[in-house]
Amino acid sequence: MEDPVMRARLQEMMKESGAHLEGHFLLTSGNHSSDYMQCAMLLRFPKYAAFAGGALAGRIEKFSPDIIASPALGGIIIGHEVARALDVPFIFCERQDGAMVLRRFPFPEGKRVVVIEDVVTTGVSSGEVGAVLAAGGAEWVGTGSVIDRSGGRSSLPNDPESLWKVEFPLWRPEECPLCAKGLPLVKPGSRM
Ligand SMILES: [Zn+2]
Repeated sequence: MEDPVMRARLQEMMKESGAHLEGHFLLTSGNHSSDYMQCAMLLRFPKYAAFAGGALAGRIEKFSPDIIASPALGGIIIGHEVARALDVPFIFCERQDGAMVLRRFPFPEGKRVVVIEDVVTTGVSSGEVGAVLAAGGAEWVGTGSVIDRSGGRSSLPNDPESLWKVEFPLWRPEECPLCAKGLPLVKPGSRM
């Protein structure tokens, strides 16, 4: 269950850091939206990263992880903060020739692993990390993310534990009500 007080604080931090913008945005998919989210903008502030990591640690503590793992690059900062809060080690997987691999660390054989990401949309990256580590002998016991944008439709075996489950409206350009109102369209990243 999301904690509404904690979620409200996170939402404020997302706005203040520029991680959550409201307006009229052109997304990489070509669709338009009233909201744009870039979690890296939040995590660039260590105090916000520590807040999110501590809160997320509280949510995934129930899995009793021995180790936290994340997909590079998006999961590294938040994964490390969660691991810090739980005082367990942190490792990350990365893509090499398209495949997710554990390159820099020994396999956490026999250890309970929780996979942490900043934003789960499809769940593919976290799922690949979990699968890689499980294939190497670890026990993949859970998944967590700051934001869950999957709408319950991720490819993960279970919904991630998250601090904020959110789905923003998306429109095809020809159906966009903000275009109809004549609001200028912004391509995120172009003015930040
Ligand atoms: Zn539009």
